[in-house]
Amino acid sequence: MSLNTEDLLETCRELKDIFAKRAAKYDAEAIFPVENYENLRKAGMMGLMVPESHGGMGANFYQYTRAAGIFAQGCASTAVSFNMHNIVMGALAEVDLSSVEGRFGQIMKNFQDWAFAEAMSGKVFGAALTEPNVGFHPGSLSTTYKKVDGGYLLNGKKSFVSMSGYADYYVVAAVPEVQPGGEIPVVSWLVLPKDDPGIEIEEMWNTMGMRATVSNNMKLKDVFVPRSRLFLGFEGLVLQKLANEPHFVVGGFTACYFGVIEAIFNFTVEHQKRRNMAGSDIPLIKNEMIQTRMGEMSVLVEAARQLVYHAANLVVTNRGERETNAAIHRAKYFVGEIGPQIASLAIRACGGGTISKHLPMERYYRDIRCCGLMPAKSDECLWYVGKQAFGIDINKHSETYW
Ligand SMILES: Cc1cc2nc3c(=O)[nH]c(=O)nc-3n(C[C@H](O)[C@H](O)[C@H](O)COP(=O)(O)OP(=O)(O)OC[C@H]3O[C@@H](n4cnc5c(N)ncnc54)[C@H](O)[C@@H]3O)c2cc1C
Repeated sequence: MSLNTEDLLETCRELKDIFAKRAAKYDAEAIFPVENYENLRKAGMMGLMVPESHGGMGANFYQYTRAAGIFAQGCASTAVSFNMHNIVMGALAEVDLSSVEGRFGQIMKNFQDWAFAEAMSGKVFGAALTEPNVGFHPGSLSTTYKKVDGGYLLNGKKSFVSMSGYADYYVVAAVPEVQPGGEIPVVSWLVLPKDDPGIEIEEMWNTMGMRATVSNNMKLKDVFVPRSRLFLGFEGLVLQKLANEPHFVVGGFTACYFGVIEAIFNFTVEHQKRRNMAGSDIPLIKNEMIQTRMGEMSVLVEAARQLVYHAANLVVTNRGERETNAAIHRAKYFVGEIGPQIASLAIRACGGGTISKHLPMERYYRDIRCCGLMPAKSDECLWYVGKQAFGIDINKHSETYW
């Protein structure tokens, strides 16, 4: 039986209300939302993207987009960090192994079965791709692995590792010590358990926004990874996957940050409904200027929604096609650039009281500013979409920004 969207969203709304009550504390202290993850676990959400054949909910990308947006309305840091888990599970769930045979097929199946079983038992997967001085550009990584007896030895440094110290596993992107040559550099994902003695977390996370993602630096020193923990059992998967199907890595963030935009809009409506015009008992919302400002915000929010949902639906119907990938980047650009603008309009409309820490608006303002920094960054989106407009093949690795 396929997942009912409305049932899923109802559960997400219940969780969102719980998350919203805790968000200010997590943000103020820049601590990981451990209790929220307990709620996610209890609701079976670690299996949100795990196929039904493996006991999960089997959400499609549109359903995921809606769910992530609702979580973010309660706590953006929870949604964005949880997005890393769903990037891993979603990317894995999209690999259809039903017709793959032979020894190699069995290796892939074993990996998939293991990862899904871990998620279904409540384990959380983080993703460590970004590096200092490299950013999120897997084509230029300096974290390396070399083959040793039974597996690989990993060395390097990662930055912005969300859920650092909390995720049960990290999916780490790395390159072989010696590149074999060829058109596309070999970049592989290797899965590390969090308690490996070679992993050192540098606790330095103290940021303007998205504070509860706890995205610290991570040092990797001679970390042994058994062969069975090479993602899907083969090297060189990363760039190919990102070039052809960038929706999880790009669109997942868009979904979360669109949720912040919705929270800003809803807050602004409710805040203004409660106020009267200065020195009178006439409701503020009767004021033409206030109505016009709300109209301006409404147009922007709806435009963002259409771009985000359209792109998500295209992933369901035409995954990996160039127009789908362009749509994913149009939505990311718009949410990343229009989000801070909407937050600014909201503060202008609601007034000085909204910069107080006892209201969520100032947190939304800081959090939404981070959207354009996350893959794909705003300029990268425009570059990519512009190429598509000229008919350049954006699914070709050499034409991407990775
Ligand atoms: C809250 C949060 C959570 C995150 N969680 C994770 C996570 O869990 N895992 C993970 O792997 N990453 C994570 N990231 C990192 C994210 O994916 C990005 O990689 C990161 O935000 C980009 O960092 P950067 O701006 O330093 O990098 P860069 O991409 O290096 O950019 C630095 C600057 O240089 C410019 N620049 C870079 N290359 C070029 C070029 N070739 N030509 C011209 N200009 C260039 C950029 O435009 C930018 O202005 C997270 C980020 C945030 C904000």
